[in-house]
Amino acid sequence: MASLRTPDWHRSATRWSQITLVEDDPGSFDVDRWIGIFRETGSNAACISAGGYVAYYPTEIPHHYRSRHLGGTDPFGALVDGARAHGLHVMARIDPHAFHDDVAQAHPEWVSVGRDGAPRRHWAYPDAWVSCAYGPHSHGYIPLIVREIARNYDIDAIFANRWQGHGVCYCASCRASFRDYADAGLPMDENPSDPVWRAWSAWRRRVLSNLVVELDAVVKEERPHASFIPNMGGSSIMEFDTDLINQQCPILAIDDQGRRGVNAIWRAGRNGKQVRGTFPDRNVILITSVGVEDRRYRWKDSVTTAPELRAWMGSGTLHGLSAWYTKFNGKIPDDRWIAPVRDGFALHERLEAARASMVSATEIAIVEASTTLNHIAWENRDAAETCDFGFYHALVEAKLPFDYISDRMLTPERLAGYRVLVMPDVRCLSDAQCAAIDAFVRNGGSVVAAGQTALYDENGERRANFGLADTFGTDVAGPTETGLKNTYLETAGRHALAATLPEGAERMIGGSERTPVSLGAGDGVEVPFCHLPAFPDLPMEEVYPRGPATEPAVIATERPGCGRVVHIPWNLGSIFWDILAQDHQQLIETCVRWALGKTPDVVVEGRSLVDLSVFEGDGATAVGLQNLTNPMMLKGPIRDVYPVGRHRISVALPEGRTGATARAVIDGGPELAVTLGHGRAEVEIEGIAEMEVVRFDWR
Ligand SMILES: [Zn+2]
Repeated sequence: MASLRTPDWHRSATRWSQITLVEDDPGSFDVDRWIGIFRETGSNAACISAGGYVAYYPTEIPHHYRSRHLGGTDPFGALVDGARAHGLHVMARIDPHAFHDDVAQAHPEWVSVGRDGAPRRHWAYPDAWVSCAYGPHSHGYIPLIVREIARNYDIDAIFANRWQGHGVCYCASCRASFRDYADAGLPMDENPSDPVWRAWSAWRRRVLSNLVVELDAVVKEERPHASFIPNMGGSSIMEFDTDLINQQCPILAIDDQGRRGVNAIWRAGRNGKQVRGTFPDRNVILITSVGVEDRRYRWKDSVTTAPELRAWMGSGTLHGLSAWYTKFNGKIPDDRWIAPVRDGFALHERLEAARASMVSATEIAIVEASTTLNHIAWENRDAAETCDFGFYHALVEAKLPFDYISDRMLTPERLAGYRVLVMPDVRCLSDAQCAAIDAFVRNGGSVVAAGQTALYDENGERRANFGLADTFGTDVAGPTETGLKNTYLETAGRHALAATLPEGAERMIGGSERTPVSLGAGDGVEVPFCHLPAFPDLPMEEVYPRGPATEPAVIATERPGCGRVVHIPWNLGSIFWDILAQDHQQLIETCVRWALGKTPDVVVEGRSLVDLSVFEGDGATAVGLQNLTNPMMLKGPIRDVYPVGRHRISVALPEGRTGATARAVIDGGPELAVTLGHGRAEVEIEGIAEMEVVRFDWR
């Protein structure tokens, strides 16, 4: 591989083997077998446990705990050498979040302190102690480990897991440092509306950002082409400055390793689209566990089904993510994961070649509510994103391809590529963010906004009126009502959106949360649906509406020179995600299609539930279709694949193009017959097993 050991190494690190060693692995796991697996799976990069909590190499650093089973061996070094012998890129993994008793005794100042003032034992393993991530342990001790690994081993990066601390630490160093910074005591509770909490968040960001820069410099002193890469999974990507991440993280990892509970297969790809919504040109990796993922019971030694593993990994691949499997424990009591990983990687390799130098290109983008979610604890994020899940699922059902754009990235350049912005429940927006969306509409872009979008400022303070009142054509007319029962919408007038309901039906179920609105001044505002006033749900004799439907529930605005705007000031997305009522899916789909106001550039027709991706570049367009038609689509693991039949794929001819050749990249059969007409190119494919990608080369 030409890019080995160059500063650009990360661009070709796209299929990763990760082996997370456990303490008794040295001497009892088969290093050669692992090197064989690197090759057998077609991996081009490996992430290997090196040190931190346990060292898997003969470290010389005092207090750096060596595995009791290490003896005179160096399993980390052997794996690095084996991976290099087969041309792989190599990342060394460290985990600095905990240490053993003797370390805690020798360096009590390294131990994190809880709110009660007591040193924090590890929540899951009380024999160990939690490290303070913001003080001398991170700044004085971890750099020694980083330097030793970078100096002695042929690596491209050091990857740190659990490096960013676990909430507020009340140790002496944190108390003093925060007092210097904010002239205040540490906050006792997570409370986004408390200025001290916000100051602590800003202080923590600064401390950790400095740490990343410091550790990266240490790595580069030893190995100039290499990097320190912090795990920026989950909330961290939203939390840290985008400049820092652009600078320090050539690779971003999504740590959502598999499904648990009710969770759609598309969730893997959604993660990737969200990261791309902020960092469009990063190499983004989807970490996939080979096992059953459930933090309540763990089962880290388990192996999930082959179709589930391929589907999760495939959802990432569909949306352009790099593939990564993680195997916990070097011993292999169950090898059923190896073949599906190999198949998933082979698919990835084929798509990577077919879409080289292409980028995702969709007309519709969901606005990611980064500003809102930053105020919410990570463990409560799913509950805060239910509106988003609902809109996502509805658009997948509608076969409308879409991307994400972060609300931190609403620049004219980034917005220029989109025709419709969808805001399922983007509550917190600053005046500047609102102005960017308003300008988008004035420039002809369309918006579908629901829930409590723009009802709060960037600090989470409720506004007196929507920050987008002018754009929406509506004003707040009362406090938001929650816990509603028995709500209904009725069609009003003959607006195109009222056609959501077929002839003979004029009522559909409403939401459980709504903000009363009145219509603003100005022309072009119509109300296709109104709320019926809420009514009792028992006794049954009382269950009837008390008056006509008059309160606006769906407001459609069309003004000369501007894009179309649909305002839905109730929780359409979350109620749809909760009960999956078809009328709600139809309403979302109709609103987005009306907002688009034209035939979509990519139209896919067929009897299926498929997730779509669209990539463009190099004079070609690649339409990806992942078959989600499966009884286990919403709750895994998938048992079997249910192929779907004939599909038609039609794409608008790009400007200046007159025709195309087309082929099915996965099926690999003969060229597809292209039908031209009405400014579009159309092909038919016989069916889709797990995934198909149709590539149109324009002429
Ligand atoms: Zn501390």
